[in-house]
Amino acid sequence: MQGTSKQQLNLVWLKRDLRTQDHLPLAEAELNGLPYVVLYIFEPSMLAYPDCADRHLRFQFQSLQAMQQKWSEIQRIPVLFHAEAIEVFNWFNKEFQIQQVFSYQESGIDKTFQRDLEVASFFKSQNIQWKQYQRNGVLRAIQNRKNWDTKWHAYMSEKPLLNTYSAALNPSFFEAFVMQHPFQVPSTLLIQWSQKEAQLQPGGELHAWQYLQSFLNERFYNYQFHISKPAQSRKSCSRLSPFIAWGNLSLRQVYYASKQKQVIIKNKRPLQAFLTRLKWHDHFVQKFEQACSYETKAINKAFDDLKASNNVHYLEAWKTGNTGIPLVDANMRALIQTGWVNFRMRALLVSFLTHHLDIDWKLGVYHLAHLFLDYEPGIHYTQFQMQAGTTGVNTLRVYNPVKNALEHDPDAEFIKKWIPELSKLPTQLIAQPWLLNPLEAAMYQFKIGEDYPAPIIELQGKHKTMVDQIYAIKKTALAQTEGKTIVSKLERPQKLKTKTAKKS
Ligand SMILES: Cc1cc2nc3c(=O)[nH]c(=O)nc-3n(C[C@H](O)[C@H](O)[C@H](O)COP(=O)(O)OP(=O)(O)OC[C@H]3O[C@@H](n4cnc5c(N)ncnc54)[C@H](O)[C@@H]3O)c2cc1C
Repeated sequence: MQGTSKQQLNLVWLKRDLRTQDHLPLAEAELNGLPYVVLYIFEPSMLAYPDCADRHLRFQFQSLQAMQQKWSEIQRIPVLFHAEAIEVFNWFNKEFQIQQVFSYQESGIDKTFQRDLEVASFFKSQNIQWKQYQRNGVLRAIQNRKNWDTKWHAYMSEKPLLNTYSAALNPSFFEAFVMQHPFQVPSTLLIQWSQKEAQLQPGGELHAWQYLQSFLNERFYNYQFHISKPAQSRKSCSRLSPFIAWGNLSLRQVYYASKQKQVIIKNKRPLQAFLTRLKWHDHFVQKFEQACSYETKAINKAFDDLKASNNVHYLEAWKTGNTGIPLVDANMRALIQTGWVNFRMRALLVSFLTHHLDIDWKLGVYHLAHLFLDYEPGIHYTQFQMQAGTTGVNTLRVYNPVKNALEHDPDAEFIKKWIPELSKLPTQLIAQPWLLNPLEAAMYQFKIGEDYPAPIIELQGKHKTMVDQIYAIKKTALAQTEGKTIVSKLERPQKLKTKTAKKS
């Protein structure tokens, strides 16, 4: 492609927006009229970062393959790169005359933010225009949340964009050339990402729409009733989170379809509860957009002083689902196998790690990021700190795993599925097998410590050390001043009170 005058070309840089519809950067590239290439970059430094897991990469790869399939008629494909973004754009810039790059804004971790700064400075130096568009309802460069809700609703109530693709604009000639680029994804990785993991949700637009349709056609009826039940929620929750996290669906597509359904049904409440949560999605991502230090530091600086005993054996037992507390272990084992548990169970895992095991939240945060197929930095770190109690402005909730098991898994259906070795016990003892007396143990041929681990801690009173510390810190002048800043910058105006603790 090198010669006296280089070919003009535009680029669409895909990030967490792996879909072909309601996609503004793609629409703008079409409108612009210049040939354009769509690219996706697997950056080695990001792949090696502790938040990245094979399951995420596989989902991304599946989503890209689905886009390719969808575009087969117009012979467009997303071109894959395995290199740092700056290397890729440098290469493009040498081979072509790049005019514009279209992408969505990324509310990512500091590492991706720094990468974007580097790329922006490169584009500027080369007179390349980088057009970044608003992702979902998340606003860039705002100082507080005044009028945020109104703007969010205005954006969501617009009809999703119907993308059209003209074959005439198809830059197959360029694509053929670009396909030969020097940053090919190693075949070992492609083989690894092509393998199916039967228990994980598959990526791609088609699967996303199937999940959305089955939710809106039948699964939503028990949405609020089952939302906290570890077994039933697997069906009654939408399970759209991975598709939203990697952008197989825009939040607006989900919002719009749900609103349409809500109009024609009698009982509006389940879908109202669901729509509220769609807003929570952006509410949390917005916090992170404004403060990505949530990933590594207590958002309320006073909680940097929180001391934890950080027992490595406890941490390992938590990570592998071997704490001897059935609901905790069942959740961790379900996550390892399937990449999903419901909100309450995620909160319980964080509470158990920090409040009961007395372990610093930072030691567990990447482990769950790895396991969640729907890992979305904007929700993950903000929620993790909220559940750990390091924001100083949210109600502290300490989850009791036995109480939760008895209330939300009364027939032990969930625990038995993930810890089959407990199945032979009577239902009322499954959540707390340590209560088995020697006679019962002999009768059921069950040995605690052999058939299933003995509990690594005693639940009663154990959370006191950490929780007392959190309360003490919460009362300090620093925590209160920090709290006020958090509230004024990151919270929506109507919701600004520091509340007392709750047992959950
Ligand atoms: C410690 C912790 C970490 C979390 N990390 C993530 C994460 O990385 N990615 C993620 O998508 N969710 C995360 N959540 C929020 C929530 O647990 C999941 O969004 C939800 O369980 C996904 O299942 P679903 O799609 O069936 O949700 P549904 O109940 O069907 O809700 C629909 C959508 O609304 C959004 N949503 C629902 N609940 C919440 C919530 N509490 N906060 C913000 N958005 C919400 C999600 O996009 C979800 O897909 C986390 C929660 C906790 C406590």
